[in-house]
Amino acid sequence: MELKNKLDYIDVGITIANTVRSTLGVRGMNKMVMLDGKPILTNDGATIIKNLPITHPIADMFKGLAEGQERAIGDGTTTATLFAGQLLENAKTLLNKKIHPIIIINGYNIAKQEAINFSHTLKTRGERKEIIKTTFGSKINPAFAEHLTNLLPSNIERLRICKVENKEPLESKLIKGYMFDGYTINDRMPEFAQGHIAVLDLQSNLEFAKFQITSTDELNKMESNLKEFKRNLANRLKEAGVKIVFYTDTNPQFENFLTEAGLMAIVVYKREYLDGICKATLAQVIADPTNLTLGYGSVNYLKNDQKILIENDSSEIDTLILQAPTKQVLEETERAIVDVMGVLHLTNDVVYGAGAFELQISLHLKEFAKKIGGKEQIAIEKYAESIEAIPLILAENCGFDAMEVLTLLKTQHTAGNITLGVDPYRMIGDAKERGVVEPVSLKINALNSATEVANLILKLDDIYGERK
Ligand code: ADP
Ligand code: MG
Repeated sequence: MELKNKLDYIDVGITIANTVRSTLGVRGMNKMVMLDGKPILTNDGATIIKNLPITHPIADMFKGLAEGQERAIGDGTTTATLFAGQLLENAKTLLNKKIHPIIIINGYNIAKQEAINFSHTLKTRGERKEIIKTTFGSKINPAFAEHLTNLLPSNIERLRICKVENKEPLESKLIKGYMFDGYTINDRMPEFAQGHIAVLDLQSNLEFAKFQITSTDELNKMESNLKEFKRNLANRLKEAGVKIVFYTDTNPQFENFLTEAGLMAIVVYKREYLDGICKATLAQVIADPTNLTLGYGSVNYLKNDQKILIENDSSEIDTLILQAPTKQVLEETERAIVDVMGVLHLTNDVVYGAGAFELQISLHLKEFAKKIGGKEQIAIEKYAESIEAIPLILAENCGFDAMEVLTLLKTQHTAGNITLGVDPYRMIGDAKERGVVEPVSLKINALNSATEVANLILKLDDIYGERK
């Protein structure tokens, strides 16, 4: 695509923002996107925008916007993206009226600051359950969402997730301990054991290639030394009361000795699992076998699912055993939980969602614009209109006459019914009564980052050079 001027860049931005338009809200649609070459179904704005098959500097700005919101907040990416798109759409109208971009940018910045100040006056304390429910939104079905909400630990830092396919979602559970993909090294091992646990990471000690060998004699001696070392280690572990051994590298000889010693041995073939194993068992990774620091727990090999389940009442972590019938549902659910984890890190200061917050901001800014006057007034008014896109699109995605819903909501809000928003079943409903709340910091972050991206694009005159 050859782009010649600012209006072209703005159009690219609007087009990109519109890719997520139909996914906003509880009645949002899903999209199919390619992730690492595989198709996935998702309703998650960040996932869609980040994986758009478009290479263009404007697309990169939108990807940055989505990633930034995801990193800082965990949720609200669709809102931020759509708002940025709408700011561009409205800026276009102003540019066509020959209003200078600098005036628009100034007006947008003034409006943003006032919107943020006003946000603080709207906030109230939110209930954890309601915050979680709004964040899950449409990404998973309500019964599953409710079940998961009840499972999530109060200290979200403790949470790990293990996904299990082909299983009943409502039987997902939370355990004190850890579960990960793995298996015992052979069928002669016990499938269950309880007791002391050793987590070995002995690569340099078990690997024979690390030694300098100069003659056949030396080689033979070294081999028999190594063999002894492995046999002794297996015996020492047994004598120390160890029942279960986790270790990081496969070594048939060592595995034989472990089997002979009657231990349950499991290869940890992804190093990222080590942290969970140690936190669940309170073990420390042993790199030097002269110093054994052991952990404790009961370990089950779940053969059908090829999972290792570690349980321990003193575990420092909790694992959500997340079950669903298909991989697609599992992954979408995990993305939703990651959003929830992000949001639960924030304070409990919330505002009412379903478009109620946006209507309040918009009404306030329209009054504020009159006070400011001057050239910027019209840009502030357009900023206020842009934010109405959120309730409008929410209504549109419910299949309502969106303009009608927006007009009704404006009338109600002007009359002082400030918590009314879009209700997917009755057109208009009280977000407060329905428990639709979102963190105020989610909204503030979205206002900030959407305004920044829109302004950056408005400031752009030319893009030079070929993009590699
Ligand atoms: P985002 O990526 O911006 O979080 P979502 O698809 O999760 O996008 O939609 C968020 C929007 O949906 C917010 O405006 C939120 O208030 C609204 N919303 C969430 N739950 C409900 C509900 N039960 N009724 C009406 N609106 C809701
Ligand atoms: Mg959301």
